[in-house]
Amino acid sequence: MAYDPNNIFARILRGELPCIRLYEDDQTLSFMDIMPQLPGHALVIPKEPAVTIYELSDESMAACLRTAKKVGKALEQAFGFNGTSLFQLNGTEAGQTVPHVHFHVLPGAFLQSKAL
Ligand code: 5GP
Repeated sequence: MAYDPNNIFARILRGELPCIRLYEDDQTLSFMDIMPQLPGHALVIPKEPAVTIYELSDESMAACLRTAKKVGKALEQAFGFNGTSLFQLNGTEAGQTVPHVHFHVLPGAFLQSKAL
């Protein structure tokens, strides 16, 4: 799928749409999910335009994971959990709804409650 520069997360990155920012550096942005699955549900996105991890550079991928570590640990402490779920979806068949790479960061046992 071609990258759509007007997708919601691209607009958040350009400051055209608001978000609750948690962390930002030169390669990534982290903010709260607008429809949290659990309290403390956050997202990490790369600034590099890419729909899925397969188009994303290794550098941006590593940067996203570095940010997810920082944000995940901070959310664990803020929300009083000793555990974090980290997941991300690639492609509409996988359930991806926003076509810009994003990592979900959830303090607590969200995925544990999902029978796979
Ligand atoms: P996906 O299903 O693509 O993995 O997850 C997309 C996530 O983005 C969902 O959890 C959804 O709630 C979140 N989301 C969609 N639109 C917005 C928005 O405008 N702002 C924020 N902060 N999150 C959004």
